[in-house]
Amino acid sequence: MTVFTVDVDWAPEPVIAETLSLFQSHRVKCTLFATHPSKVLDACDRDLFEIAIHPNFNPMLAGQVGDPARVVDELLEMFPEARGVRSHSAAANTPLLQLFRSRGLEYESNLWLPYWDDIKPFRLWNGLMRIPYNWGDDIHLAYGRPFETPQIPTAGSLTVVDFHPVHVYLNTDTTSHYEAARPHYHDADRLHALRNTERAGARTVLLQLLQQKSGGMTLSELAKAQPA
Ligand SMILES: [Zn+2]
Repeated sequence: MTVFTVDVDWAPEPVIAETLSLFQSHRVKCTLFATHPSKVLDACDRDLFEIAIHPNFNPMLAGQVGDPARVVDELLEMFPEARGVRSHSAAANTPLLQLFRSRGLEYESNLWLPYWDDIKPFRLWNGLMRIPYNWGDDIHLAYGRPFETPQIPTAGSLTVVDFHPVHVYLNTDTTSHYEAARPHYHDADRLHALRNTERAGARTVLLQLLQQKSGGMTLSELAKAQPA
């Protein structure tokens, strides 16, 4: 089973909408980790999409004064339906996991195990379900591996993949391609003009996976399906 997730990462509305449209046209479920208020997210079809939160603790790690609880609470005010969390840059430690649980969240998905064949959700000491993921477009970019051979793990019973709307939109295939486009992050027209149309990229991989799938599960459905 392949389970789809998307880290919204402050993408502009047309870029978010375009990624969602790919899931809609294939009728495949996806969990969206939201970073900011978005009309596109507010309006998305809840039969297909689950909204979870994607808090950013990086400014605090870089020395800015801040309160992790406040970061989480602000996102939960925007998205009170959220049942789960993945931090931006996958930040997680014991106090953060306690914070997530104290806010009633049921699962977190911060553990990446790239290219692992066999992953499964497991319950943490505080009751939070930890759902690892074993493929990410950004992680594949970081490894510098070609998207022609994305190495999506298929041998185990569960594959959890993570995409970013900007990489889907750009069809990003290398870090240098992304870095060249990054100054135009909030300009959907410019990003569209910079889309890679020659080589396989993140979009190619997503479309290949979507064409093999229908239905699927959200992360909260996956968490609920685990033994108590
Ligand atoms: Zn992120």
